[in-house]
Amino acid sequence: MIVPSKLPQVGTTIFTVMSKLAHDHGAVNLSQGFPNFDCDDELKRLVAHYMSEGKNQYAPMAGLPELQASIAAKVNDSYSIDVLPDEVTITAGATQALYNAITSVIKQGDEVIMIEPAYDSYKPVIQLCGGIARSYELTAPDYKVNWSSFARLVTSKTRMIIINNPHNPIGKIMEKDDLEALERIVKGTDILVLSDEVYEHIVFDNREHWSVLRFPELRKRSFVVYSFGKTFHNTGWKVGYCIAPDYLTKEFRKIHQFNVFSVNTPVQYALAEYLKKRSNYTGLGRFYQSKRDIFQGAMQQSRLIPLSSEGSYFQLYDYSAISDEPDTEFARRLTAEFGVAAIPVSVFYSTKRDDKVIRLCFAKTDEVLLEASSLLSKV
Ligand code: PMP
Ligand code: GLN
Repeated sequence: MIVPSKLPQVGTTIFTVMSKLAHDHGAVNLSQGFPNFDCDDELKRLVAHYMSEGKNQYAPMAGLPELQASIAAKVNDSYSIDVLPDEVTITAGATQALYNAITSVIKQGDEVIMIEPAYDSYKPVIQLCGGIARSYELTAPDYKVNWSSFARLVTSKTRMIIINNPHNPIGKIMEKDDLEALERIVKGTDILVLSDEVYEHIVFDNREHWSVLRFPELRKRSFVVYSFGKTFHNTGWKVGYCIAPDYLTKEFRKIHQFNVFSVNTPVQYALAEYLKKRSNYTGLGRFYQSKRDIFQGAMQQSRLIPLSSEGSYFQLYDYSAISDEPDTEFARRLTAEFGVAAIPVSVFYSTKRDDKVIRLCFAKTDEVLLEASSLLSKV
């Protein structure tokens, strides 16, 4: 039987493809973004504690009230704002939050502007809703948004703008004036914003994270998405959350209740408690900055040239001094022949690009980073 595909253009996500290739070749996996070290024992103890206490049945649909309250307290403390616990919905990772946010508001023919390279889940979800993805392309090596060019993509059909800050895959952050420019673009319109801030705590060199929550004109129209997996080194737990004003949260939960209903109960109890200690997340930028520096320092022996990484746990490397192959081919060969898996950046664009950059993930033990750089220095 032939089933007409709802997403004919879509194959298997690059993260699955490259991690499998890394596995098949026994390569050091700097492709898919996840730490190769464990999360805090204290957090694991808390989960075990709540499981043995019998917190093993459905959590409330929107999330455990204790966790909603801890999250509201945390963001209010971090960004000097006034989020209410009931504006927080706990999700099965940021991926599900992104899915809910887009599907709850995008209808047939609506236009959604995204900044490419874009995290790979945005566009297929827009398309599933019958929406039209409009891309603003960032280009190597500086990858800076020119907001007046960006504004030209806005039409009467624009329903949503998606931003990602700090940005995966390019590792850049948005400054205050970027958010102010976005504010000017949406002011007086009914355009919504979806802000993917999963790397909010991973910013380097004393930079500041400018959440859309800090800008009233953006906050009142935004879904803001976060992931505990990134902050607490447990991507496999798949717990995240979405903050949005009441009228958006209402629509968000209409979808949420039917695609997941509720999220892992003992983990929610544990996170509610663990979040109360600020030092459990405030040192994350310094932690990853040191990894970026160790890796970048060791990579000086290689012919791959680093682009600046201001946040996230990724850094782009230019390989034009080594090869003129397309990045997909270079990344495949790097894995198979040199034993290090990377992500080709062109896959995050809708148009064909040939920037000769790959993304490397430095969320790894120092030992693995040094091993990878030594393998890469042979290329
Ligand atoms: N957004 C971005 C930018 C990401 O890098 C990721 C991957 N970690 C996600 C969303 C999805 O996060 P989660 O694993 O919590 O679903
Ligand atoms: N966010 C991770 C990355 O960018 C991967 C997430 C996934 O595998 N879906 O590598």
